[in-house]
Amino acid sequence: MSTKSISELVNNASCQDDYDPNSMQVNQARKYIREYLSPVSEKENITLHSALGRVLAEDIISESNVPNHDNSAMDGYAFNANDVAKTGESRLHIIGTAFAGNAFEGVIAQGECVRIMTGAVLPKGADTVIAQERVTISEESISFSENPKQGMNVRYAGEDLKIGQVVLGAGHVIKAADLGLLASLGVGQINVYRKLRVAFFSTGDELVSIGQVLKTGQVYDSNRYTLYGMLTRLGVEVIDMGVVGDNPEMLEQTLVNAAAAADVIITSGGVSVGAADFMKELLAKMGQVVFWKIAMKPGRPLAYGKVGQAHYFGLPGNPVAVMVTFYQFVREAMLYLMGQPSPTPLPLLNVSCTEEIRKLKGRTEFQRGILFTDDDGIWKVKPTGNQGSGILSSMSTANCFIVLHADTGNLEAGATVQVQILEGII
Ligand code: AMP
Ligand code: MG
Repeated sequence: MSTKSISELVNNASCQDDYDPNSMQVNQARKYIREYLSPVSEKENITLHSALGRVLAEDIISESNVPNHDNSAMDGYAFNANDVAKTGESRLHIIGTAFAGNAFEGVIAQGECVRIMTGAVLPKGADTVIAQERVTISEESISFSENPKQGMNVRYAGEDLKIGQVVLGAGHVIKAADLGLLASLGVGQINVYRKLRVAFFSTGDELVSIGQVLKTGQVYDSNRYTLYGMLTRLGVEVIDMGVVGDNPEMLEQTLVNAAAAADVIITSGGVSVGAADFMKELLAKMGQVVFWKIAMKPGRPLAYGKVGQAHYFGLPGNPVAVMVTFYQFVREAMLYLMGQPSPTPLPLLNVSCTEEIRKLKGRTEFQRGILFTDDDGIWKVKPTGNQGSGILSSMSTANCFIVLHADTGNLEAGATVQVQILEGII
């Protein structure tokens, strides 16, 4: 893989044996993109309440054991299992009660037990708890018929988290469970990376903003809304820079403004080879940007590089291609830029496809699919129908991508395919 700068890639494509901008495989493009990314490093200190989805900027080390005492996992009776085994006597005298938050202070001797509630500290002398449903109570004693296993129904100090343990590592994205985990340690403030600032705009003379009346040949600018949604779900700060017509001066000015305001710039449209695709010429002049033809469908043209200090992604104009390239290239790059050192790729799951699929070898296709359960409760997938790169309704209908790898050709109905689930990903 390359260790060259982007400008070397731009100026001398042949310096790389495996680098062909006109036929770039999806995985290869992902690797190139990763090489030139520099994550945010500035940190901020925030409260737990505002931490959901943020990226930890430091390891969280446990300063205490969780739980901090051995305690009962059940409502029942605490006693010493050895004493019972030694004497064979399963009739125990109840000498007190231990509540969660209000311990029994005495010591349990042979022939004795303490009534104990879930979460109560295990009294001294006890090592085992029997559930209250399993004992017979008569006056101030219990008896039971089973042979209790030593340690049963006891939760040990530190069994969840131990003092000194790294609980969550730097780069971890805070989920709901992590909020609870941090709270269980008494941590109320954490250091996270500042939010990534992402500026985006649409390009094209045919684009009209919502609220205006469409003339023949015009379309509403939908890409800015899907981008807004996908970026917001990722947890970045979005800077919506509107629609810019196919006008080199306006495009240049908007790029300059975006580079000054943001860590990342995303545009849609104008990166292909049409007569009004000015982005290419402009970016060649302004920045260090490569233009690739990716061996994929949809989403063939893709521009990537830097404009000033900002990372730049030039996505295709077609609405489905915008979403596919975002999920396949931008999402992971963005997670890395946000401070995750090794973002988990979207998992690929094998399922059977209920319909035949026509597919050319040599490129990766991302068809829109619907995962569903058949009458036997088995998960299967079927394509959404028209797979054109302008059919945005296919993305609304779909709950997964059917990923058809470059070496895959036509498939019969019933063939196993790989899918990426879209629900909850971004
Ligand atoms: P382009 O890549 O600029 O040649 O655009 C390819 C196709 O996508 C054209 O049909 C455009 O009208 C359409 N398109 C480009 N940008 C947008 C947008 N922001 N919203 C909806 N459609 C768009
Ligand atoms: Mg255009």
